[in-house]
Amino acid sequence: MKTRMTILLAGLAPLAFIAQAADITNAMIENAKDTKNVLSFGMGTQGQRYSTLTQINTKTVGQLVPAWSFSFGGEKQRGQESQPIIANGKMFVTASYSRIFAIDLKTGNKLWKYEHRLPEAIMPCCDVVNRGAAVYGNLVIFGTLDAQLVALDQNTGKIVWKEKVDDYAAGYSMTAAPLIAKGVLITGVSGGEFGIVGRVEGRDPLTGELLWTRPTVEGHMGYRYDKEGKATEAGVTGTVNKSWPGELWKTGGASTWMGGTYDPATGLAYFGTGNPAPWNSHLRPGDNLYSSSTVALDPTTGQIKWAYQNTPNDSWDFDGANEFVTFDMNGKRYGGKADRNGFFYVIDAKTGQLQNAFPFVNKITWASSIDLKTGRPNFIAANRPSDPTKGDGKKGSTVFAAPAFLGAKNQMPMAYSPQTGLFYVPANEWGMEIWNEPITYKKGGAYLGAGFTIKPLNEDYIGALRAVDPKTGKIVWENKNSAPLWGGVMTTAGGLVFYGTPEGYLKAVDAKSGKELWKFQTGSGVVAPPVTWEDGGVQYVAVVSGWGGAVPLWGGEVAKKVNFLEQGGSVWVFKLATKI
Ligand code: CA
Repeated sequence: MKTRMTILLAGLAPLAFIAQAADITNAMIENAKDTKNVLSFGMGTQGQRYSTLTQINTKTVGQLVPAWSFSFGGEKQRGQESQPIIANGKMFVTASYSRIFAIDLKTGNKLWKYEHRLPEAIMPCCDVVNRGAAVYGNLVIFGTLDAQLVALDQNTGKIVWKEKVDDYAAGYSMTAAPLIAKGVLITGVSGGEFGIVGRVEGRDPLTGELLWTRPTVEGHMGYRYDKEGKATEAGVTGTVNKSWPGELWKTGGASTWMGGTYDPATGLAYFGTGNPAPWNSHLRPGDNLYSSSTVALDPTTGQIKWAYQNTPNDSWDFDGANEFVTFDMNGKRYGGKADRNGFFYVIDAKTGQLQNAFPFVNKITWASSIDLKTGRPNFIAANRPSDPTKGDGKKGSTVFAAPAFLGAKNQMPMAYSPQTGLFYVPANEWGMEIWNEPITYKKGGAYLGAGFTIKPLNEDYIGALRAVDPKTGKIVWENKNSAPLWGGVMTTAGGLVFYGTPEGYLKAVDAKSGKELWKFQTGSGVVAPPVTWEDGGVQYVAVVSGWGGAVPLWGGEVAKKVNFLEQGGSVWVFKLATKI
């Protein structure tokens, strides 16, 4: 009898669990007070990566120990840049080579995995990474290296819908976490090194049906789609040939490869855009809108409400893809952006008006400052790599430029604490020798027209986690790191900042002083952002570990310096050893 009862209960348990699983709604995604789930990339669509949880704090963090760890397995490892999503008692975590796992939060047991079948000829520029998924309804949705979107049932891992976004053979790929804003699934594309055309798209998250598409290169037509999929022209982005000469805008880059943020207070979605293509700026005189910019869009129509260009006529692959994180300052809503070009920008989140711009790295060679009146950089003309056609026709002059194209900051997202009023920016100090070469567009071929070698600027460090005061432009504290920082940051009301290092550590430091309070060796380099949540009165912290990303592939002399680092692929979850 007892045995039968046990079987009966065991049979009922999964049903009870399914009944508890709530469909994710837009209201749940926008609810900043929810500490039990992490429903979006950025720990909230604003991307502040701030948690109000305090159980793990400056006094208790020393007792943080592993709760469980999970290996992604497989023969292929490489860079793991993913932020886990926490929803309905499950962790959804993406991994290299377009994989996604569902894990039971309590036990660390695998519930299911999905491995996307990738063609041989995919062309990711910067490793086979994925940065995370979105959740909506009963679905978990992520982008793949062959430029598809896949929506899976949260409970079973079965495909509910799958959409081809674009042609991988032309250089399109997807690595960013999708954004849900106003109930719309909003995604970008990667591929700026192949002369693709950047764009932002809105879809019905439950069906994958396209609602609108908005190119981020001036001159291209935007579209809206009705329920039958019929396209209606929705206006050209900007004006044809206004900031681009001739035909180059047709392969103009400006990829939206890092995805976007959304602020319910302004009703706007913010997407950074990458470099104009090709890298050789002399082939495309003009500002090359809207490359290397922040673009603010209406999530329901894709209409561009404002755009601010960080690097007009970008010649250094500075991109501008970095996240735009909104916050309150002096009673007003602003956005902060630590650009790859070395300047930190503070911009009115509603209007796009520049409020302040200041360096967050020690060496910037391409511009002396940003003119706050015009919003334009004061270029240092001598430090732009020259036009090869003015010399021997094969190679222009080599200049030493800082930051290097891998950026004063790259894909690793920063955090903002409303408690301290500081941004925590994972910065890197490096430079590069760069020169221009002739290039013509060929579908699926690298479209750079430039050569380069990245070099460290200092003997003892490349990375530096910096606490940046957006009011004053001052660096309040910094923690140097030997290897380049490539993982994201999280801050909490417990007065802590968490970040990972390529040397393998997840660290917790005091948000006010930067003093290191705790660290844990995860077994491989950390190039992903941590998250935190609470379950049953216990606060947890999780981070993905697995060295890789753009540095080993593109890092020149820096790559040689860090070639002792080992690859991996796992997620670690921590809690306090003793219950507080
Ligand atoms: Ca680029």
